[in-house]
Amino acid sequence: MGLEKYRSKRDFSKTPEPEGGPVPAPARAPVFVVQKHAASQLHYDFRLEIAGALKSWAVPRGPSLDPADKRLAVEVEDHPLAYAGFEGVIPAGEYGGGTVLLWDRGHWLPEGDAEAALAAGKLRFRLAGEKLRGEWSLVRMGGKAGAKGAAGQRANWLLIKHPDEFARPDAELDITESRGDSVQSGRGLDEIAAGRPPRRAMSAAVGLAAALPDFVSPQLATLVEDSPREGLWLVETKLDGYRLLAQIDNGAVRLWTRNREDWSARLPRLVAELQRLPVRNAWLDGEAVALDRAGRASFSLLQRALARGDDGQQLRYYLFDLLFVDGSDLRGLPQLERKERLRELLAGTVQEALAGTGLGSAGERCLRYCGHGVGRLDDAFRAACLQGEEGLILKRADAAYHGGRGTDWLKLKCGHRQEFVVAGFSAPEGRREGFGALLAGYYTSVGTLAYAGRVGAGFDRATLASLGARLRAQVQASCPFADALPEAERADVHWVAPGLVIDVRYAGWNRSDRLRQARYLGLREDKPARDVVREWPLLPRRRESGA
Ligand code: MN
Repeated sequence: MGLEKYRSKRDFSKTPEPEGGPVPAPARAPVFVVQKHAASQLHYDFRLEIAGALKSWAVPRGPSLDPADKRLAVEVEDHPLAYAGFEGVIPAGEYGGGTVLLWDRGHWLPEGDAEAALAAGKLRFRLAGEKLRGEWSLVRMGGKAGAKGAAGQRANWLLIKHPDEFARPDAELDITESRGDSVQSGRGLDEIAAGRPPRRAMSAAVGLAAALPDFVSPQLATLVEDSPREGLWLVETKLDGYRLLAQIDNGAVRLWTRNREDWSARLPRLVAELQRLPVRNAWLDGEAVALDRAGRASFSLLQRALARGDDGQQLRYYLFDLLFVDGSDLRGLPQLERKERLRELLAGTVQEALAGTGLGSAGERCLRYCGHGVGRLDDAFRAACLQGEEGLILKRADAAYHGGRGTDWLKLKCGHRQEFVVAGFSAPEGRREGFGALLAGYYTSVGTLAYAGRVGAGFDRATLASLGARLRAQVQASCPFADALPEAERADVHWVAPGLVIDVRYAGWNRSDRLRQARYLGLREDKPARDVVREWPLLPRRRESGA
């Protein structure tokens, strides 16, 4: 089963849906807001977007980050979605007369089906707001009978924080007190009531005001062999291309590899499209890929396109993160929130910004939003592997962006694959030219080079010739590996200075820690040899249980 039908129905310059991969189309994440409302009684209106409206509860004491402190939440009437942006004064005498302060806002995700959970009286969900984060639940009091409320009264619920990294005891932090101001305008209730202007520009109210940095260290994923059991994760297809960060500084666009090489000159089409985004300055994170006829990212195709100096037809730049925009540092915002802002930026603007720029028809444009799915990790992983994808990237929905490798981003790989350093080659046999096999290695935790085995398959004639020439120019007398190789593995070998990094697919490791069935996939010119280490999965693979 291919995706032709799926693709034929969509214009991907107009829809943020992904072109390929197993991941479900990205529905927009629903919004939530909390409005502090100084009506006859001060309360907090807690609103979740469900089925096109804001399902609402009045929480007299406001939310608490303490799991032991369950707060009464009285169900009130649904509000229109547009109410999520409201802050101001409701005239005295009108319904709800008093001052409304936009206390928190962001996106939320239910566990399971939100409407069914509400009907059942128990909704578990995660919040990715500016003040409220992590896992929460709303539980209706009085069981099934509670649905109608006692004697026609409104139904009473409890708003409960779950114990997680965002929970704090009341004694330590009262969030309604410590962060009482508006997330939209920075104003307090009195200032809103007095009609004072916003303390900060509305557009700069998100994130921290910050100068655009010269470089942003990219966040990297940790390899795992099994999907995590806990937490809410965004699931993206693992794209097989080059990681590139885009810097936009007053219209000047530069594309950086994770190794801080400037590739702007190699990708003029990408640069031209990024220049037309309606932002003054920004840092975006994404992966440049080349799509094959089946719509799948092909690393070898990308390498050939770049070697030709052609970043045209097949090239796509899938953007998956927005780190800075117009003077705001968004890295502290939850992952889900950053992706939503990116999606809004691209969905609303890409086609308009590019219209009439002579950059070719919509279908040929490079900039794409990298969509994600949510939940059902095992199913998504199985589907990805069945469709021949490289694997999945999992991103913790409520985590901030951190440079370097951590466990908020995880990668699940369908096959075994990683980079190795070339430290030698064997002489060609028979009619083969160039070399026989490459001797692959990786750096250990103490900085020595360890031997991983031979990579003898996956080379075409052109690669044998060009790679052979490069290697012969780097021949050295001494063996670069820390431990001497057994006689049999040294025969016919020429050592080279360890500098070239290759991408290798393999069946596994044998008992002597050598690669099995290693196959060359390409050169990794974006990665320094010193960064190549043996990738150990963090979590052991779970045993399949039952059917
Ligand atoms: Mn209210």
